[in-house]
Amino acid sequence: SAPLFREAFRLVEELEGAGYQAYVVGGSVRDAMLGRPVHDVDIATSATPAEVQRLFPRTVATGLKYGTVTVVTGRYTFEVTTFRREGPYGDARHPDFVQFAADVTDDLARRDFTINAMAVDSRGVVTDPFDGQKDLQRKVIRCVGDPRERFREDALRMLRAARFAAQLGFDVSPATIDAIKAERKGLAKLAVERITGELHKILSAVEPGRALRLLWSACLIEEIAALFLNRFPASPPRNQLASLEAETDVYLRWILFLRLCGVKSSEAQRVCRELKLPRKWTRELSLLWREGEKWSNGLMSNAEVRRTVFAHGLKRSLRIVRLAYRFGRLSRREEQLWRRRFRHADWEMPLDDPSQLALDGRALMQISGREPGPWIGRVLDTLLDKVVSGEVINHPSRLEKEWRLHGPHAP
Ligand code: ATP
Ligand code: MG
Repeated sequence: SAPLFREAFRLVEELEGAGYQAYVVGGSVRDAMLGRPVHDVDIATSATPAEVQRLFPRTVATGLKYGTVTVVTGRYTFEVTTFRREGPYGDARHPDFVQFAADVTDDLARRDFTINAMAVDSRGVVTDPFDGQKDLQRKVIRCVGDPRERFREDALRMLRAARFAAQLGFDVSPATIDAIKAERKGLAKLAVERITGELHKILSAVEPGRALRLLWSACLIEEIAALFLNRFPASPPRNQLASLEAETDVYLRWILFLRLCGVKSSEAQRVCRELKLPRKWTRELSLLWREGEKWSNGLMSNAEVRRTVFAHGLKRSLRIVRLAYRFGRLSRREEQLWRRRFRHADWEMPLDDPSQLALDGRALMQISGREPGPWIGRVLDTLLDKVVSGEVINHPSRLEKEWRLHGPHAP
């Protein structure tokens, strides 16, 4: 991230050279101080959006309403935002209008948490009016200003607090937790995709348990379940929380989270749609959940194991057995056993997809001298299954022989 910062400070200097104040602000300052990777660098300035547009040759008017202009340089893009103050929040969603602020301290005051409210100028001088550095050291998430007020202004901050705790491995200050509990009804005003976005970041974080335990103790899980899923989980199932924490796969974490909220596998698809999860996720989550739940630890022949691994791929097959374990349908030892079987079957599998079958439709027509027709698909399906299940080797002459002997539609 060094070249990224160098470029950002070049822009800051350019703004300063033109007579404006300018700083690197927000998440990138926090992450740099923590030695964490930085993916984007935001700049705050006294220059108005029009002035920023005039100063830099390549800009995109991304959020003029909010005072944001995207500046494009050779390799990077930067969001350059004019100093703002907190506007009155009509619906706790979007500010009714933005008011520009005189200096960076005013701008920092509108930011959510002390660790996100620091600025650095081109000489490396840190502006830190809310003791963000101290909170970084103490590993605490704390609101800038009165937490209840800040959560009333924007309810999403409650989830952001939990999310940063999970991403950074921090605690949330007790006053902030109390405020979340008190203001939890404010979630109702948020658009579902913003909730889903934060939940996804929580579930993708290194320590999702930190966020979820906080959300439990502040009664936010119940609130989310009631508001967005129309579910009313009775009492916090702590053991389910623990199994979610132990899981590293984000798909599995989502399923365990929804189950925590009282969702059943048969409702998975509808709930995922209501949460506006991407279609790919909706499909995958419903499938995994269904397969994991119906897992029966009966005898499965090697042929069936191979078919499963071919149909689902190794990754998904392993996710399914892991879920079966989480659902209590397999013991730890049995799960290990299944993982080994699936890995082995995958390793032995001679083809990745149907197109790699050693005979194709053209070859079948040549061998039999027949016209094309639906028979081709049936023959190829049969031969493919024999290769997948391990009955026949994937070789043209072996497949031809198999076809002649056992059909269907044998020549
Ligand atoms: P990351 O990008 O890694 O998720 P970030 O801190 O950069 O973390 P962003 O959502 O990109 O978070 O926001 C950039 C900065 O804008 C934050 O650091 C914070 O100062 C401010 N900010 C963002 N969202 C809010 C909000 N809802 N209320 C107050 N300030 C906010
Ligand atoms: Mg950011």
